[in-house]
Amino acid sequence: MRLSRYFLPVLKENPAEAQIVSHRYMLRAGMIKQQAAGIYSWLPLGYRVLRRIEQIVHEEQQKAGHIPLLMPTLQPADLWRESGRYDDYGEEMLRITDRHKRDMLYGPTNEEMITDIFRANVASYKDLPLTLYHIQWKFRDEIRPRFGVMRGREFLMKDGYNFDIDVDSALHAYNRHMVSYLKTYERMGLQAIPMRAASGPIGGDNTHEFLVLASTGESEVFYDAAITNLKFGDRVVDYDNRAECAAIVKEWTTPYARTDETHDEAIFNAIPEDRRRTSRGIEVGQIFFFGTKYSEPMGAFVTNDKGERVPVQMGSHGIGVSRLLGAIIEASHDDKGIIWPEGVTPFPVGIVNLKQGDAATDAACEGLVKALTAKGLEPLYDDRDERAGAKFATMDLIGLPWRITVGPRGLATGKVELTSRRTGESEEMTPEAAVDRIAQIYAGV
Ligand code: ATP
Ligand code: MG
Repeated sequence: MRLSRYFLPVLKENPAEAQIVSHRYMLRAGMIKQQAAGIYSWLPLGYRVLRRIEQIVHEEQQKAGHIPLLMPTLQPADLWRESGRYDDYGEEMLRITDRHKRDMLYGPTNEEMITDIFRANVASYKDLPLTLYHIQWKFRDEIRPRFGVMRGREFLMKDGYNFDIDVDSALHAYNRHMVSYLKTYERMGLQAIPMRAASGPIGGDNTHEFLVLASTGESEVFYDAAITNLKFGDRVVDYDNRAECAAIVKEWTTPYARTDETHDEAIFNAIPEDRRRTSRGIEVGQIFFFGTKYSEPMGAFVTNDKGERVPVQMGSHGIGVSRLLGAIIEASHDDKGIIWPEGVTPFPVGIVNLKQGDAATDAACEGLVKALTAKGLEPLYDDRDERAGAKFATMDLIGLPWRITVGPRGLATGKVELTSRRTGESEEMTPEAAVDRIAQIYAGV
């Protein structure tokens, strides 16, 4: 992509309305534009990152055997009357009346609708287990939308729902979700720690929130530093293997990690003092097992292997897709701008032409664009007629993890410069070597 033909409306000034760094950088880097309180347009650069995050979520969900579908944003109120939540939900729900005076709502979540789909189509244990998910816009009329996409009113969420014949199978679905979430966040360059949340309907350990440590997080968190040493890495998981999933869950839930909601001072104080940590965290996901909370009142029953009709066991599992952009920036930036992890960067590499209009420099840049594109690594090429300083400042602000700088001086000896956004370190090499290096870096992403 040539920057001269792209749409990247960067701001020089810090926007006054932004209180935290991710909001500030997303506005300054031309990623989003606010249209109303907590409602944003996703400009091209922001939209690219959003799509990358969605793609990772889709890939990891499907590896776990979960099936994508798409439910609408608008829902009939009657479904929510069946579960009893139409009245319970309160002012956070955006209620709409259509021209025929039918009560509708903009979905804040989809338990009722997915249960309706299930009951209309599944009647036997032979069709289980089943996990369906979608990535869809939600609306919650938050009293205080703030921090940009972190607490929006309209926001993008992945929400998945498991249907199982018995509690053991549903708890396996819970574990499968925890494992797939650990892998998902790690691919985004994030450490999201599963923390025990306030307990669900059957009591016990059946809901966890995933928190990214950041000073601007809204939750207070308490944890054993040992948990921050855990890495998922490139292990390959057999998601049908209950023992394997349970072992991974055990590994991540054994060290103490809780939010203020469930914090227990006595257990915390039993951790060796040098490992006790108190911090703040951003909730980027949550998983729940809630049994028959929706299947009973809504009549989602199946026949079991003894021929009895039983309510299906369910859970729901959410990832804050649009909030993740903010969380990643909170976790990865410096005073010059964003530092995208390779897994979610809008472009893998930027090319800075130090002497636009110089035939040899232009040709070298064009050659790099071609070679990178041929390897499936579309670069962002700054081909504007701008000072070098301004080009570097833009690249630093938008945070591409790698930059190739091309100028007449280097080219005289056949070299370009490859710079890491994270470390600031540069290395001179031939254009071919730079392309190979970039290809190698992204091969494992
Ligand atoms: P919070 O406690 O932050 O209000 P929640 O617990 O109500 O969130 P869930 O119902 O668990 O949210 O939704 C799943 C995920 O969706 C959350 O973990 C969070 O990442 C994201 N999310 C929830 N509310 C918002 C919002 N207003 N803006 C952006 N993302 C959100
Ligand atoms: Mg939550």
